[in-house]
Amino acid sequence: MRKPKHLSREDQEKLDTLTRNLEKELEHFIGYPCNTLFDYSALYHFLKLPLNNIGDPFVPTNYHINTHEFEREVIEIFKKLTNAPKKSTWGYVTNGGTEGNLYGIFLAREMFPDCMVYYSEDSHYSVNKILRCLHVRNIMIKSNPDGTMNLDDLRETIKIHRDVPPVIFANIGSTMKGACDDLLGIQKILKDLAIKRHYIHADAALSGMILPFVDKAPAWDFDAGIDSVSISGHKMVGSPLPCGVVLAKKEYVDRIACGVEYVGTLDTTIMGSRNGLTPLFLWYAFRTIGLEGFHEIIQSCMNVAAYAETKLNALNRHAWKHPNSLTVVFDRPSPTLVSKWQLASKGSISHLIAMPHVTCENIDELAEDLAGEKQDTRKNRNYPSTVRRSL
Ligand SMILES: *Cc1c(COP(=O)(O)O)cnc(C)c1O
Repeated sequence: MRKPKHLSREDQEKLDTLTRNLEKELEHFIGYPCNTLFDYSALYHFLKLPLNNIGDPFVPTNYHINTHEFEREVIEIFKKLTNAPKKSTWGYVTNGGTEGNLYGIFLAREMFPDCMVYYSEDSHYSVNKILRCLHVRNIMIKSNPDGTMNLDDLRETIKIHRDVPPVIFANIGSTMKGACDDLLGIQKILKDLAIKRHYIHADAALSGMILPFVDKAPAWDFDAGIDSVSISGHKMVGSPLPCGVVLAKKEYVDRIACGVEYVGTLDTTIMGSRNGLTPLFLWYAFRTIGLEGFHEIIQSCMNVAAYAETKLNALNRHAWKHPNSLTVVFDRPSPTLVSKWQLASKGSISHLIAMPHVTCENIDELAEDLAGEKQDTRKNRNYPSTVRRSL
């Protein structure tokens, strides 16, 4: 076998610089919902294998270098967390929340080809692309100022299109404001309008790993009548590789399944070749931290989020958050601070997310920075013109 040559000195230095830069950036990483506290070093030797979870994790395949057994265990854990009916729910480990959303809408469209998809202004930016890929009719519904879907607008809009089955793309923890769409309210609309054929997909990218661990969660899971749900794995659980989980009612999945002789399995997933490492990461996290551990982690994140809200309000930054959310919304600071703290921003607001690695000391330091900077006026804020127009 041809042995790889060693890296040149320059190339090695380039890598070393990257390592140093990334480590530095991690010190101020509070704007995006990716948990950085994980240690999968016990699994590093699996990097030597061409793992591939191609095909349906519940069906034997002719490609044996896979981790399907662990993927199935991960799916069982998420079924419990989402109150999914044991026998009639299916799922797989995706490449992230976006793939799970694509999958949910794909199932919905295959079930109801003439459907209309309703999603809110606050839905994740990828939803628009998914709808274009799937070439499905869709209408954007107005949001309330707190980021939830405006149900009056939803009701009126569905009324106009009563002849086609509605597919509701519900945000369970919206990207910018951590808002949960009111699933019970949505169900009521469908009932009031006597609409029998409908589909509800829950985009629970971040909150799908928060709400199972809070005391007073709103109705959001299979108990609330959803048909599918997408949850990211690299967000709250934490993973060096993007990943996620999608769960759906089995009856819908059976409609799209087809056998593939080449790999001797069922083609029920979006991707062909699939990541075999990420199911191991997720499995390892749940096995080592445990549900009780995640409960504690989420509680302490809630404390940090509350601390941030208070601290930023003391600086008059109009901070607020939804009760079961770790996303703290506040006035958009200067571009310098947006960049330093990697604060996700949209229009006049920014947010921080109290993920497990975010500490009260981080918040104190951010508050110091905010107190130190001149309160920006809108004029000298350096927004891209597209954002400025929407202000
Ligand atoms: C992050 C996020 C997504 C996309 O998830 P990825 O794992 O990044 O693909 C979708 N919806 C919401 C609400 C999100 O917060």
